[in-house]
Amino acid sequence: MANQQAGGQPVYILKEGSTRSRGREAQSYNIMAAMAVAEAVRSTLGPKGMDKMLVDPTGNVTVTNDGATILREVDIEHPAAKMICEVAKTQDDEAGDGTTTAVVLAGELLKKASELIDQEIHPTVIATGYRTAAEKAKEILGNMAISVNKTDKAQLREIAMTAMTGKVAEGTGKMLADLAVDAVIAVEENGKVDVSNVKVEKKVGPGIMASELVKGIVFDKKRASEGMPKSVRNAKILLVNLPLEVRKIGADTSIKIRKPEQMKSFLDQENEQLQKKVAAIAGCGANVVFCQKGIEDLMANYLVKEGIFAVKSVSETDMNKLAKATGGRIVTKLEEITAADLGAAALVEERRVTGEDTLMFVEGCKNPKALTILLRGGTYTVIDELERAVHDALRVTGVAVEDGKIVAGGGAPEIEVGLRLRAFAATVGGREQMAVEAFASALDVIPRTIAENAGLDPIDMLVALRSRHEKKDGKNFGLNVYEGKPVDMLKQGVIEPLRVKTQVVSSAAEAAVMILRIDDVIASGGFSEQEIAAAQASAQQSLAHMRRGGPGAMGGMGGMGGF
Ligand code: ADP
Ligand code: MG
Repeated sequence: MANQQAGGQPVYILKEGSTRSRGREAQSYNIMAAMAVAEAVRSTLGPKGMDKMLVDPTGNVTVTNDGATILREVDIEHPAAKMICEVAKTQDDEAGDGTTTAVVLAGELLKKASELIDQEIHPTVIATGYRTAAEKAKEILGNMAISVNKTDKAQLREIAMTAMTGKVAEGTGKMLADLAVDAVIAVEENGKVDVSNVKVEKKVGPGIMASELVKGIVFDKKRASEGMPKSVRNAKILLVNLPLEVRKIGADTSIKIRKPEQMKSFLDQENEQLQKKVAAIAGCGANVVFCQKGIEDLMANYLVKEGIFAVKSVSETDMNKLAKATGGRIVTKLEEITAADLGAAALVEERRVTGEDTLMFVEGCKNPKALTILLRGGTYTVIDELERAVHDALRVTGVAVEDGKIVAGGGAPEIEVGLRLRAFAATVGGREQMAVEAFASALDVIPRTIAENAGLDPIDMLVALRSRHEKKDGKNFGLNVYEGKPVDMLKQGVIEPLRVKTQVVSSAAEAAVMILRIDDVIASGGFSEQEIAAAQASAQQSLAHMRRGGPGAMGGMGGMGGF
């Protein structure tokens, strides 16, 4: 491909096989691809949104209503479409909810931009207008927000329930919301909520209502030998990340044994090795061993004799949670262990939960902030979606407790911001004003979609909502999807953390601006692996930068991520 002319000679800068699209053509391809992603998740938005069934290449089925999950599970090729998927991820990382909203808004912003481009408005002007509008929108949202107190459990429960609507049935939602709120309040520390302290463990069982909050760590493992006691009080816990077995002999090693005595001495030697390990464990005072690797039967027998309770093949995640909860250190060399490495818990127990099913409970941990929400549900598919719902509930409640600010939901903020942004646009003037107006009308896509998905007439609903917002005390009116009319969402208990909404505006605007500014797409036919890796690293850097919202964060695209 000839890219430049130098003294009549073409200069080749791209490898053979590369394809390139530029200008309006590149822009409209990108916008189309991004809009297609938004279109794909649109039908899941709101309390009456539909679910999607995703089937992966190995046949695993996921049934979900969660935008971030859908976009993570499907294989998306187009680079601009991938940037929209990043929006969902950023939204999820920063606010824990609002992923579908952010993606749908990004798609709508690009659709409106495309209309402006058709009217000969330059993409950079649109980009500037969108940035101005996003800043103003966040300011309006901030003014709409009301305070929430972390002791107000009833309100926190409403926040949790709003995040779960559409994912779980109402009655179950209440119960799960209570678990989430109690968990968040318990782990809150100096105004910060680290929800990674709350483990969510799933076990198929009698039904959702049997779910519970356990003060401690629960995981799905059994003790290494039936000969061990089922429970240990006052547990002194050793966490080991090495196999408790005789050093394995490599497959290609052979041992020649010529006389029976040699065989005996060989076995004795093995025994001695194991006994040394047991002695080391007993010596440091441990009465419980959680082992990330295997424990061989002979070893388990020795542990039984010493009265030590042991569990093998504990997952790495659980080991880390156990270390944090019990205050123990994960050791990799038995020779070096001391009593100081041990963790502590009031009770370690293999407890029956239903029928023959048992789970391992570690309760009364040294760190009281370690909690587990134990989810029970009819099938794995059901529990998996419950887990996502509980995750959203934990995150939004945590965010609300951290920030202490909430706004009404159900499309109320989008209508209110849209109205005020239109008024603000008049003060902007010039062509940029058209972009600010486009931003304002793009926001309508949220209430419109909530209405559509509930089988309501979107135009009627938008008109009714707008006119209610023009009146006194109308700013919190959103859509009651069951009755098909505007209702005060605060009174109805449909509330969301302010951060979810401000982050929606930021991430959707940033992605739209980023895509608008691209006017040249160079897709390589044959980059080397190093070149691809370098391009991806630099794209990731620029995305991380975008997430931090640093200066110029919405500027051009650094690198060629995902080409
Ligand atoms: P997201 O992935 O963006 O969170 P959801 O499918 O969870 O998408 O839908 C969120 C939208 O649904 C928000 O605008 C929220 O305010 C609204 N919503 C949630 N519960 C209700 C309800 N009971 N009535 C009306 N709107 C609701
Ligand atoms: Mg949601």
